[in-house]
Formats: sequence, structure tokens, C-alpha cells
Amino acid sequence: MPDRPAPADPAPAVLLRRVRVHGAPAADRERDVLLAGGRVVAIGDDLRGELPGPVPGADAEVVEAGGAVLLPGLVDAHVHLTQWAAARRRVDVLAAGSAREAVDLLARGAAPGDDLVLGHGFRDALWPDEPHRDLLDARFGDRPVVVVSQDLHAAWVSSAAAARFGVAEPSGLLREAEAMALTAAAGDVGAPVLDRWVLEATAAAAARGVTGIVDLEYAPPAAWARRAALGEPAVRVAAGVWPDWLDDAVARGLRSGDQVPGAGPRVRVGPVKLVVDGSLGTRTAYCCDAYPPPAPAGPHGVLRLPPRELEPLLRRAAAHGFDVAVHAIGDAAVAVALDGFEAVGCTGRVEHAQQVREQDLGRFARLGVVASVQPRHAVDDRDLSEAHWASGLGRAFPYAALHAAGAELRLGSDAPVAPLDPWDAVASAVHRSVDERPAWHPEQHLPLEVALRAACDGRPAVRVGDAADVALVPEPPAAVLAAGGADALRRTGVLGTLVGGVWTHRAGV
Ligand SMILES: [Zn+2]
Repeated sequence: MPDRPAPADPAPAVLLRRVRVHGAPAADRERDVLLAGGRVVAIGDDLRGELPGPVPGADAEVVEAGGAVLLPGLVDAHVHLTQWAAARRRVDVLAAGSAREAVDLLARGAAPGDDLVLGHGFRDALWPDEPHRDLLDARFGDRPVVVVSQDLHAAWVSSAAAARFGVAEPSGLLREAEAMALTAAAGDVGAPVLDRWVLEATAAAAARGVTGIVDLEYAPPAAWARRAALGEPAVRVAAGVWPDWLDDAVARGLRSGDQVPGAGPRVRVGPVKLVVDGSLGTRTAYCCDAYPPPAPAGPHGVLRLPPRELEPLLRRAAAHGFDVAVHAIGDAAVAVALDGFEAVGCTGRVEHAQQVREQDLGRFARLGVVASVQPRHAVDDRDLSEAHWASGLGRAFPYAALHAAGAELRLGSDAPVAPLDPWDAVASAVHRSVDERPAWHPEQHLPLEVALRAACDGRPAVRVGDAADVALVPEPPAAVLAAGGADALRRTGVLGTLVGGVWTHRAGV
């Protein structure tokens, strides 16, 4: 997200004493950092004399940070926040290696009083057994159970849930539109409850050092105005605009970067979201090479927005002052997206870019198009890639190649597909494995500094003049990685987070 002007009613100044400033020369030296008016206003050896106000320091908070490391705030560039807020309350079955294991995890995690057991995160593509409703019925009897797949494209229901939600499919396994409709019905807890969950999810993000997200939820940005009654989100939000709400946004004179009316200063209008293809998991990503048969959606996947439809949308968005985030996963889809940017002459972001042709790598930099990538997908989908993209593994999740070709990278989670946790994304980018196996295509690792910068919205350092969106961690990430590897980096604890100089998380400073 671009740097924002300070809010009209800035927070009191905060003097952070004895912090190690990430990216500063001699970064190991402890310094003072003064935050005031929503900005980083000074970095120096001893700033106690610089405190603002008629009586210096009267309105300032002085925090002894004890050598903590001050980082730019982390920004998750791709989140579906409402779905994440709901998913983090469901029983997590991501670890299940079979349908039976998933049922065990559900039985262990289900709260006794819940009238409906909701699970999240199954990945059945490589399971030895089928997710079938009989398995759920055998364990849960007449208790309704709904389990949503990790990629949100499938749902698995017990007989009691099938009866409650009118599901006719005898296996209890639904895919695509039916699955999404069922997921929406089963997860419908009502706006007041969901809004509270959403704000709690932003607080959980702040506890991981997150100061901003791009929310690409399929919902009108105005939903944030309704939430404002419950409080302010703990992170800045760029609220994406799906084409369904673009006319309304244009009619209201809104552009990307504007405040969403009524939603408070942290919530801005984000990019227009356009979707060119599907996903790898459902074999709907649009690819140059054919999928091995049977390819349920056709040999090359699905082109949802061909150039003749994409270009007018890009043109309209650009003409009205909107940034654009174009979902493109397969290499053919990425090429279509880049062709669109080139034809229209606008810039924007390609979301995912999970497979990129050699000749397209350099076009990101040349066209000024950002590659918004989710490194956790590379490690979660390594087996799927081996199975479905065997002929194109050299161009799968090509982060190092994109970086070498000059592409500006941003990291995200695509939560709820992966957890809303930039430390997980950074760890997955620097070491492409989340299990005991060796790194997958390690030649595509990113160096830590590159990954961290991409996770900090492109900010390489904390500098005077920046928005006071910062996070405090106990040790330099490079030292954590060197001592404990990617897993230690993934578990990085966050001591404090400030957005515009206001504490949004505090634990130990
Ligand atoms: Zn997404």
C-alpha cells in the first residue's frame, strides 16, 4: 500500500529507546526512534531532548525496548479476510493425510456444544481414501458436519448436514459452485457476529507484526463502513473492488487510495480484482502445457477472462483511477494478464503468478507490473505441481527468476488458503519446504532480505519520514534464520506493532 498521510488527529508521540533499526547502517547499534504525528520523525543515539510539546516529553510515551529490532510493518498483499475470520474458528484439518485422519482431527477439535461442526482445510487430491459422508456419519451420528477444502473449491458433508442444507449428492462431496453455496450457507453466522470475528482477525494479524492487508474478499468495500460501528481494524485495509461493485464505486467518485466513506482512516479503497483463470488444485489454472488426462475442465484449464473481456475492464478501471489486481495462476493466464496491461498501457499486479513462461519474466519489470505471490502455496502444492505440471516445473513458483528479471515482488498468504502470517510466507520463500523433505526447487528460493522487503510492502528499512507502521521483534531475522532455520523464522515472536504510531499489539515492551 502506498504511504499515507498522517491522520488528522495523530496519536501522542512514542519514543522507542534502544532499538536496533532494521536496514539502517550499523543496524546492530541501539538507537532511539521517535514516532510522532503518525510518522517516524527522528532516529538518533539519544532523542530524549527531542520530545515534542511545550513541556518536552509531557505527551510522549517513552518505551524501553531493550535492544529489540524495529522492522517496517508487515503487509499481507492478498487476504480474503471474512473467509479467514470464519476459517480460523473452524476445526483445522490441514494436517490430515487421509479422510480417516481428517475425521479424527474433527472429532478431537469439535466443541462439545456446537450444533454444527465446521471444519476447514482438507486436501483430498492425494489422499488414499475418499472423503465420503459415511465416514462422517460413522463418527458423528446425527450431528451435522461440514468440512471445507483448503482451496475453498470443495465441501464434504455428513448426512445430517446434507439434510439440513438440502444437499442431494449421495457421496456428500461437493465441488465448485455447489460447494461454495453450501460453504456460504453453513458459515452464515450473521453480519454482527462475522464483523466481530473480522476485527478479531485483524488483531491476530497485528500480533504477527502486520500493519496492513489487501483484502480481496468478494464483498463490497462498504462492508467496512458497517464494521466501523464495532471498532477500528487493527491493520490498515486496502479493500479490493470486484467488478460487481465497480460501477457503484465509480458513481460515488471513489478511487484506489481514497478512504472508504464511513469506515475510518485505516480503511482505503483497494485495487479492482479481476480473475483470468482458476486454480492448480482444481486443474482450472490456464496453462500452455496440457494437464495429464483426465483433465476435468479441459486440457489447458479455464480462461475466465479472455483478452477481449479483460482489456475493457482494465481500461475502465485505469480510466477511473483504480489500481488493478489480476488473478492469474497458469503461465498462459499470466501471459494474458501481461498482454492486457501492455495493450491498455496501465500498471497493476498479477496475483499468484504460480507459473511464468521464460519470455514473460522480464515483462513484469518492463511494464511496471508487481508480482503478488504466496510462497506458502509453493511448498503446499509441490506434490500437486509434480502431478499436474510435470512438464513445467522449471517455471513453477519462479520467485528467484522473477526477482532476477527485475520484478517487484509482494508477499501474501491468500488466507484462508494459508494462514495470515507473513513470517510463514517469508520462511516459505527462503526455504521451500514445510516438512522433513529437502527444499523443492531450491534454485527458486529468495534471499531473506528480498523476501522480507517483499513482505514489508517493498520497504527495505525503517526510515525518517515513513509512516509509523512498524513492528518490534526480539532478534534480527537474519540471526534467527542462521541459528534456527526457516522454522525458527516462522515462529518469530512479535513484541509490538504500531500503525500510524498507535499500538495495535503489545507483548513484552
Ligand atoms: Zn485469493
